[in-house]
Amino acid sequence: MKQKKDLQLEQSKKSTKGPYRNFPMVPRVVFGPGSFDQLGEIIMPHRSSMNAPVIFLVDDVFRDSVLIERIPAEVNDRVVLISADKEPKTAQVDALVSQIKEDYTELPSAVVGIGGGTLLDLAKAVAIMLNNEGSSANYQGWDLVHNPAVYHVGIPTISGTGAEVSRTTVLLGPEKKLGINSDFTPFDQVVLDPDLLKGVPKEQWFYTGMDCYIHCIESLNGTYLNAFSQSYGEKALELCEEVFLGDISDSDSRDKLMMASWHGGMSIAYSQVGVAHAMSYGLSYLLGTRHGIGNCLVFQHLGEFYPEGVVMFNKMMKKHGIKLPQGICKNLTDDQFNTMIKVSIGMVPLWENALGKDWAKYITPEKLRSIYEKI
Ligand code: NAD
Ligand code: ZN
Repeated sequence: MKQKKDLQLEQSKKSTKGPYRNFPMVPRVVFGPGSFDQLGEIIMPHRSSMNAPVIFLVDDVFRDSVLIERIPAEVNDRVVLISADKEPKTAQVDALVSQIKEDYTELPSAVVGIGGGTLLDLAKAVAIMLNNEGSSANYQGWDLVHNPAVYHVGIPTISGTGAEVSRTTVLLGPEKKLGINSDFTPFDQVVLDPDLLKGVPKEQWFYTGMDCYIHCIESLNGTYLNAFSQSYGEKALELCEEVFLGDISDSDSRDKLMMASWHGGMSIAYSQVGVAHAMSYGLSYLLGTRHGIGNCLVFQHLGEFYPEGVVMFNKMMKKHGIKLPQGICKNLTDDQFNTMIKVSIGMVPLWENALGKDWAKYITPEKLRSIYEKI
């Protein structure tokens, strides 16, 4: 008997005829424990002059750590410590860009982001906006960026979002939470040093790791699936199973989670995410719920959409003793529920990927409210 995924793949082949999307990829990547120490050598050829600094945007969780001393900053460079407590905002990007422009006579030679999805997204957005006019809010959407970004490097210190490979940078703007999706968004260079994941607290490790797991489930069970996404998605899923259910050493686990995040990100590049992400955007917009935990809060209730995925998710939670917060939506007003539902229903490509062109027949406001009420 044919596997469900193969049938989906055949289906999507029948329904898809070109033109096909032509995606940019990260052109250079270094992988290995300790590879962070090669950063100075990697950026050296990109230093254009003494007046064109390298701007390092670093998660402030590293404030008193030795990592700060290992940053290869030269006299004119700047290390900016930024909190990842809140998701990145367009106003924050605009403020960083104007400060840099005010303080230097030349454009930076490079922007380097060191941290999780929050810092990686900030670095991508700042690199784009240094070379494009106006507010970053004007570029939230698809292919609105005109000029190439400043050379930018991404160095993840927590794994799962796939922000290190993706073609987007998700920002909270005055009107919407939406990515700057463009061919200029992906990093020019990524440094994957699994040793940098060492200090991540257990729960955060799980939530961000589950973002990757949910990317795989949503991509592999979506109608947009093709052989490109499937090949990356299956590998990422296999790695997630080893990391979250297997019996492997800590160092193996770090290496594998880093590669799972990479493959998960590649998988959704050519497909799309699905129900959990569409609904978690609503939570995040209204309540500021962070991406990783928001996806988990929704995903636990999605057995009817992803039956096998939810069973495995529950096993992973149990194995790691994770208890998700409850009653998040308990005291919300009708207006608040409606705001979340509106944001969520607006994520059309995600629904279409999850349930096909007729998605709106199944996804009614009442349906979404009934799921939100369980959270
Ligand atoms: P994060 O960057 O928000 O960080 C989560 C927490 O982990 C923070 O408290 C941070 O300080 C801490 N942390 C990070 N590295 C650490 C380390 N080595 N040791 C100790 N603490 C550490 O986490 P995230 O889940 O990677 O990113 C979430 C963000 O990514 C959201 O803003 C989301 O919108 C974005 N995102 C972007 C994409 C994309 O493709 N661009 C995809 C998914 C999510
Ligand atoms: Zn995600």
